[in-house]
Amino acid sequence: MSDFSIGVDLGGTNLRIAAVSTEGQLLEKITLGVKLALGRDHVIGEMCDAIQRLSDQYRVSGRFIGAGIGVPGIIDMETGMMRKSANLPGWSDYPVRDEIERRLGTRVFLDNDANVAALGEKWLGAARDADNMAMITLGTGIGGAIILNGKIFYGMSGMAGEFGHVTVEPDGVPCGCGNHGCAERYASATAVVRMAREAIASGAAPGLAKAAGSDSEFSAESIYKLAIQGDAEARRIFTRFGQALGILLADLVNILDLDMFVIGGGVVSAWDSFAPKMFAELRERSLVYAASAPEDPLSKKEGASAQISAYTRKKTIITRALLGSDAGLYGAARIPMS
Ligand SMILES: [Zn+2]
Repeated sequence: MSDFSIGVDLGGTNLRIAAVSTEGQLLEKITLGVKLALGRDHVIGEMCDAIQRLSDQYRVSGRFIGAGIGVPGIIDMETGMMRKSANLPGWSDYPVRDEIERRLGTRVFLDNDANVAALGEKWLGAARDADNMAMITLGTGIGGAIILNGKIFYGMSGMAGEFGHVTVEPDGVPCGCGNHGCAERYASATAVVRMAREAIASGAAPGLAKAAGSDSEFSAESIYKLAIQGDAEARRIFTRFGQALGILLADLVNILDLDMFVIGGGVVSAWDSFAPKMFAELRERSLVYAASAPEDPLSKKEGASAQISAYTRKKTIITRALLGSDAGLYGAARIPMS
């Protein structure tokens, strides 16, 4: 007998729904393709059907506590409405939370996707032993979340943790947010592809040009593959990536002085190619990190035991996320439990 909740991760391509027990056990996970083109009501309908089915199924063995939903966008926490979402046009100013609550007749919590990923890593992942942590998710853009004393720090308007739009280059590349030189213009999947295309256009990147010509899905992943094969231009791009991320981290460490900074998202799989420059930059630019860095931040040791030993010596731990793409599912499921 185990009480459970439902976590939902609404991404740009997939809608994933999981039943998770209060002990953190994944009971069942459903992955549905998101047909955004069919409209908001269609997506919400599919989501509610899946939540209903899972909750009916596991109610036999435990109490259903509620549902948590992670969405890509800025949420008004009081009203449960989406203020703005680049990936979900047509969802703005719609009472998402109240509508789902009405259909399901259960408690529903809505939060930003980066926040739920941080909650997942805090509950069951890399940050289990850190009460104060921040999470940086490297994907299409950069997501960010701050957890203080075990709770998400929302700021006045629910927008705290917009790390992707911190300036790392005063006269840098324009960003959709209206600023120039935002971190996510240099350290995201989109940025990697942009830098590669620019290098190809300059005529100085034959390896990248060849890959782009033969690969219909010329992506950050294909550029990373070239980097690990030793292509100089591909390596330069990930060095630039690491530099921008290091500058961002130096600012965050100086301002927040948290126990742990967890780096997740799809592009974290390119860690080997950007982390050395990231740590070098961080060490050079952050007074706080220089005083609190572990001896070998690039140590291959991962997981809780490594973290605990380092943590008790009051070191600033900067580490990869452990839960991968499931962090958001676990984190969303965690919200109704607290
Ligand atoms: Zn920006």
